[in-house]
Amino acid sequence: MRYVPVIGLEIHAEMLTNSKVFCGCANEFGGAQNDRVCPRCSGMPGTLPVVNQGAVTLAAKAGFALECTVNNYSAFDRKNYFYPDLPKAYQITQFQYPICTNGHIRVCDTDIRINRIHIEEDAGKLVHDDYEGISMADYNRCGVPLIEIVTEPDFRTVEQVQAFVEEIALRLKYAGVCDSRMEQGSLRVDVNISIMPEGSSEFGTRAEIKNLNSVKAIGRAIEYEIKRQAEILDKGGKVVQETRRFNDNHGDTKALRSKEEAHDYRYFPEPDIPPVYLSDEQIEQIRKSMPEPPNMRFERYTKEYGLPADDARLIVLDKDFSDFYDETVKLCPSYKQVSNLMLVELNRCLNDSGTAVCDLKFTPAALAELVKLSDAGTISKNAAKDVLRTMFETGKAAEEIAKEQNLIMSNDTGELEAIVDKVIAENADSVESYKSGNQKVFGFLMGQVIRFAGKGANMQVAKDILTKKLQ
Ligand code: ADP
Ligand code: ZN
Ligand code: MG
Repeated sequence: MRYVPVIGLEIHAEMLTNSKVFCGCANEFGGAQNDRVCPRCSGMPGTLPVVNQGAVTLAAKAGFALECTVNNYSAFDRKNYFYPDLPKAYQITQFQYPICTNGHIRVCDTDIRINRIHIEEDAGKLVHDDYEGISMADYNRCGVPLIEIVTEPDFRTVEQVQAFVEEIALRLKYAGVCDSRMEQGSLRVDVNISIMPEGSSEFGTRAEIKNLNSVKAIGRAIEYEIKRQAEILDKGGKVVQETRRFNDNHGDTKALRSKEEAHDYRYFPEPDIPPVYLSDEQIEQIRKSMPEPPNMRFERYTKEYGLPADDARLIVLDKDFSDFYDETVKLCPSYKQVSNLMLVELNRCLNDSGTAVCDLKFTPAALAELVKLSDAGTISKNAAKDVLRTMFETGKAAEEIAKEQNLIMSNDTGELEAIVDKVIAENADSVESYKSGNQKVFGFLMGQVIRFAGKGANMQVAKDILTKKLQ
């Protein structure tokens, strides 16, 4: 039988606040174990949580970034469960009244609805491998502010899911909500997946695959799960609702716990935290503070600047890179030329040396000066590439480099004419051969002109003079 997969996502994103969500501990990645823990985030009795307003603002920004409604009223609840990574034995989350609702994002020509975005605290980490037979608890991550993004089951293909995760990751990064480093776990995806016979509209029973941390793993886990569930149904069996874990080494999923043994979370309103009220004015202020999202940048690059879609996509992929491009074309609107130099020459320098855009030794203004030199015909397009490489290495100004490397094109036609005359006089045979129809000789003669005129010569002018004089 042929089946159609039905997929919905729950995505956890760590927010880029300075401190944790209910206490003053630093919100950072890495460092020594249990170094950023206080009585509040380690769940000591009698301590009281205080909501980090920065986390509320970032969650609202996430709402705008993902085209949701940001609500005036939201409230916290307790989700009760015991596990050693959660010292309070409950997680503070938003259950009944999430901060954002009703979003939608279009990927692969399909509308994906976002049911909700809510704020919650992250749990700690259990370290199983350091000592034989002993698990250690690291509470540094306890109380790190998260948003959870819950989609409707609107996905039907792996491509849609992967495109969506990439789009969300990029939008959250642009909005400054999350660094979206899946490999560091700051963005983690749970995939809910069921299958139904082709033509049916009744959803099947779903399995949930927890904590996928790369787009590739998401794809592999879904493919595996579709096959696993199809085999069960083909044999006349029933898919059970359960949570599964994807093993990246084996490429398969294994059951973690079934719905029957699922926890009863006994949600109830968090009595220690007052509800969050955001006035219309506050919400409007947050909306106004949003930077231009990547999808709008893409539109601007393709529609207003006339860049090819592939180029625009590559620029938008990295916000710092895209910011650098924007600053440069503001000063020198040669959109295509700046894009070419950055995507080819600059990217090569960055990749080869492992340098980040924010560590560049030259500014967008300096790049604009370089492009102006090339636009004005002061240096050739090829020379501009050489100059850019030197700018990357030394941080020197374009004009200085062009002078040092003798790349300023001579517009002295008198000098070029003299050189052409000399070449013609010294190569009478070749000139004869050219005149009798051997076009190929032109290249040789041009080569001779370049030899005498040097790299900085204006090739186009030299070529015109030679052409004229050969007639
Ligand atoms: P619960 O309250 O049991 O956690 P939700 O309605 O909140 O269930 O859904 C959790 C996730 O599962 C959502 O991302 C949703 O899109 C997805 N989902 C719900 N039903 C299905 C289904 N039949 N197949 C695949 N995904 C589903
Ligand atoms: Zn703390
Ligand atoms: Mg749910």
